[in-house]
Amino acid sequence: MMFITTAYLRVSHPIISGTPPIRLQIEERARTYGKDEDTKRQEKEETIRKWQREWEVTVEVGQWTKRLIPNVATWTNRKHGNVDYYLTQMLSGHGCFAAYLHKFALIESDICWYCQERDDAAHTFLHCIRWIRERTIVETAIGETLSTENITNTMIDSKEGWDVIAQMAKGIISKKEEEERTRKRQLQGQE
Ligand SMILES: [Zn+2]
Repeated sequence: MMFITTAYLRVSHPIISGTPPIRLQIEERARTYGKDEDTKRQEKEETIRKWQREWEVTVEVGQWTKRLIPNVATWTNRKHGNVDYYLTQMLSGHGCFAAYLHKFALIESDICWYCQERDDAAHTFLHCIRWIRERTIVETAIGETLSTENITNTMIDSKEGWDVIAQMAKGIISKKEEEERTRKRQLQGQE
């Protein structure tokens, strides 16, 4: 039996993993071949600047991801933090969100399973009443309301901040995936 979750993994983006797009890596290698360490460092920075310019105009990802990660250097030069399966869903907006699943006709509606709003990543993590408990743990830790502006800043600023957001993402997504599987089984049972 194939779960819908496998569909999430199809869509990924270099910004989320923090690895420059292959083409920029190849260009950098060509510029630095046989050069000294200073040049290599400068060219690495040049790659990040090019990546930033491309990131600002890319249409491959949604506005959600662009708002969460406005600055390539700040995000990719961080000193800690691995982007796991759950954070990938949170950052990309591609995952266990009704609007996303509906887009691929995997479910019949883009409306949240817990309230009457359209369910995308912003809804799930910032607004949905179902996840108040998970959100409150983060908000207590950071001392402010969770928003598009402070999610990744919290992750980048400290290891503790990263972990508290990662825990929230895992807690919410894993429960939603469980719910999604249950709903699917119920639907199949009705057929
Ligand atoms: Zn909701």
